[in-house]
Amino acid sequence: MDISDSPEESTFRVTVRQFIEDNLHSLVSSRGASADNVDTLKHAQSVLYSGGLVGVTWPKEYGGAGGTVVQQLIINEELDRAQAPRLIGWMGVGLCGPAIITHGTGEQKSRYLTNILTGEEIWCQLFSEPGAGSDLAAVATKAVPTEDGWVLRGQKVWNTGAHWSDYGVALARTGSPEDRHRGLTAFVVDMSAPGVTVRPLREMTGHAAFNEVFLEDVELPANAVLGEVGQGWAVALTMLMNERFVVGGDGSTYGAGPGALTSEVRKALPQLSESSRELVLQEYAACWIEALACRMTGNRLISRVSQGGEPGPEGSVGKLALGALLKRVGSLGLSLQGETAVFAAAPDGTNHWQNVAMFAPGLSLAGGTPEVMKNILGERILGLPPEPRVTASPALTTSPTASRDGA
Ligand SMILES: Cc1cc2nc3c(=O)[nH]c(=O)nc-3n(C[C@H](O)[C@H](O)[C@H](O)COP(=O)(O)OP(=O)(O)OC[C@H]3O[C@@H](n4cnc5c(N)ncnc54)[C@H](O)[C@@H]3O)c2cc1C
Repeated sequence: MDISDSPEESTFRVTVRQFIEDNLHSLVSSRGASADNVDTLKHAQSVLYSGGLVGVTWPKEYGGAGGTVVQQLIINEELDRAQAPRLIGWMGVGLCGPAIITHGTGEQKSRYLTNILTGEEIWCQLFSEPGAGSDLAAVATKAVPTEDGWVLRGQKVWNTGAHWSDYGVALARTGSPEDRHRGLTAFVVDMSAPGVTVRPLREMTGHAAFNEVFLEDVELPANAVLGEVGQGWAVALTMLMNERFVVGGDGSTYGAGPGALTSEVRKALPQLSESSRELVLQEYAACWIEALACRMTGNRLISRVSQGGEPGPEGSVGKLALGALLKRVGSLGLSLQGETAVFAAAPDGTNHWQNVAMFAPGLSLAGGTPEVMKNILGERILGLPPEPRVTASPALTTSPTASRDGA
């Protein structure tokens, strides 16, 4: 893989960098979304879209630019360099949009896709339930057919961004519980529909980024079905594989990529004693190398995906590595602040390293836990014998065809 820019790519990079410099800094100062800055971040996404920086690889007919994967990598790198916040609509752009492109009807594609890119409509993933996380085939939310559509009843949990989302992709049971993953259907849920209640949950970072979502007799039209009735598992797999692919990376989108790491460490060095400076520099070098290795692994996967097909189980490598890296980078960041880390806040009011350190455990769970990722890698990539599966009750059953590992 040649990773240097061609003359055309180099020109593209200059244009992207200039666009970000001219537009983004005046728009946003904070890296994370919160209920207070959703409108600003939506506007920022629309500005980035107008500059061709969102959905560059999406086909033109769906609002994309029909560009190359290398262009997307250049955009990612330049956004990291500028320490830009993550797209508020990343879940729509990275997970739900690709599922609509793969499984949606023509009507769904023309109705939803462009608004996902512009940031006009934000999407969330309504998969997990109190009894169905890793074992996603245990989903108990029910969808009952009516004369002209469906009625949805159940509870979802840990739904990132559901409180500022316009739509969600929900997985619901349309067959019997014994059918496991064969009895599931995916639905597009209008988050403002009567019967949808969203309750934010506070994390240890202090932010409320994810939610409980209650679905009480929510009426859905017939065209809310995404994919085929009973084929929701296929939609879920597309979304999960894209999730691992999108989440796995060098930590840039979480404020812990090589760019942010270098600038934050540089700021802290003058305050450190000579002896601790050496230790910090060693750990910094190790984290920086790991971040770069994650970026290269991600780039390799992206370049393979660009040759056709969906991201496969290989995305689990990046997801697993990033979970570990973020924990390591978070500890390094806190150690830069010494004992004051317990109280520290940056001059701009943000607790950058505290956020990285406290979000790290959550990131390694989201989209599949490390144990589940290791099972995928062992069984599907390395071809090792499967883990023994214990069947205690339908709710506790895990099997290669049923767990969130997508096997
Ligand atoms: C920050 C964050 C954001 C999230 N965002 C969303 C979202 O937007 N939408 C959404 O639907 N969900 C979301 N989730 C939920 C997430 O996908 C689940 O938490 C995850 O799949 C784990 O499921 P669980 O919490 O039910 O844990 P469980 O499945 O109960 O797992 C508990 C423990 O058992 C282990 N375990 C389970 N099965 C196996 C197995 N087969 N082999 C070995 N070990 C196993 C797990 O690894 C874990 O250590 C989010 C979670 C977090 C933390």
